[in-house]
Amino acid sequence: MPKVFNWHLGRRMHFPYEEKHPKRQFAAVFNTNRCIACQTCTMACKSTWTFSKGQEHVWWNNVETKPYGGYPQHWDVKTLKLLEEAQVKRGVQPLWNSAAPHGEKNFYGTYKGLTLFEAAPSGEQVLGYLPTDAEWRFPNIHEDSSTKSEGGGTLGIDKSGVSLPEHKAWFFYLARICNHCTYPACLAACPRKAIYKRPEDGIVLVDQERCRGYRKCVAACPYKKAIFNLQTRITEKCIACYPRIEGKEPLTGGVPTETRCMTACVGQIRLQGLVKIDPKTGLWAEDRFNPLYYLVRVAKVALPLYPQFGTEPNIYYIPPRWVPRPYLRQMFGPGVDESIERYMTPDRELLAVLQLFRRDRRIIFRYELKEGPKVYETVVRGKPFTLYNDTVIAYGEEGQELFHTAVEEPIHERPKERYNSI
Ligand code: SF4
Ligand code: SF4
Repeated sequence: MPKVFNWHLGRRMHFPYEEKHPKRQFAAVFNTNRCIACQTCTMACKSTWTFSKGQEHVWWNNVETKPYGGYPQHWDVKTLKLLEEAQVKRGVQPLWNSAAPHGEKNFYGTYKGLTLFEAAPSGEQVLGYLPTDAEWRFPNIHEDSSTKSEGGGTLGIDKSGVSLPEHKAWFFYLARICNHCTYPACLAACPRKAIYKRPEDGIVLVDQERCRGYRKCVAACPYKKAIFNLQTRITEKCIACYPRIEGKEPLTGGVPTETRCMTACVGQIRLQGLVKIDPKTGLWAEDRFNPLYYLVRVAKVALPLYPQFGTEPNIYYIPPRWVPRPYLRQMFGPGVDESIERYMTPDRELLAVLQLFRRDRRIIFRYELKEGPKVYETVVRGKPFTLYNDTVIAYGEEGQELFHTAVEEPIHERPKERYNSI
């Protein structure tokens, strides 16, 4: 089996195909601290792509309440368990060596455990499982269910249970779409070679003509984002709204436009883009003022979901700051502590870049910062914090200004002649 380099893991790993990289990669950052589980993203996707017969249970975008929720039910717990069993059987310690100095190539340290490709049983390309029909029934099961509090008090919640840095009773919302993985497990497992990754933007698609519905991809995708259509008997998955990425959305005048789920986001948690890939190394080519490059590679606040699975997923998450760290380290890898620390006391550049989320539907390719006056100083959890009213300017693919916005939210006064419509 060929070996490919996975920069999330800081090492080479087994994959059934030779290493090959797209020119640019579809990617996004989701800020879990801001998601309110309104499901607007879910319905924006559903009403655009999956409203037909046979797609009743198909949710390319879903938002689940962690730790108990999941669509399909228990998808991550089941895959983690399979991986753990395989590692125990082979005597492998699933450790991250994060103490070594981090460079371009071992960004989060080095993962010493097995990936799902390396743990695959003989005759298979990927370690996985096929969810039962019952597990696809409830896309939002256990909504708003928290863990139990370790404190007493009314409803089992006391004051000590709700104070940072970690809450004793907790839950959070995890918004999920296909990760358009660098090393897609769905693609690796398909015996028909019906799944492909586009060289221009890294979007992973299923060729509906070639698919015969063997469901190998459904079993292999650890995120369970390849979904079987009960009517057509073939697999479908998120297509990253590729006509919009290609600039075919008439509302934005033919420029690359973010997906439906991203643009609909009420909580302003999502920022999507296209990152440049170095064709030789497969790493993100340096693009210092691309907001995604900044959030993932420079500020290191946004992290991959279950990097240990080995698919190098391209949706990155700013972890929820109130959740116990061991749970988050399992979910987002060893970068969690640094990410939360940075997010809690952001410097002026991070604070400005966070203002770019959901100000426009058009994809931002570059940003620029214009320094503004100091507004106030304070101390956050023992660390000094200064707020500046900087302005951040967003530019499109051709260098055209898309918009600019300030860190301090402006106050808009309703003119006397415009009555409140309520
Ligand atoms: S998330 Fe799943 S369906 Fe999407 S590219 Fe990765 S392996 Fe394939
Ligand atoms: S639209 Fe945004 S805030 Fe609402 S559930 Fe989706 S990701 Fe969360």
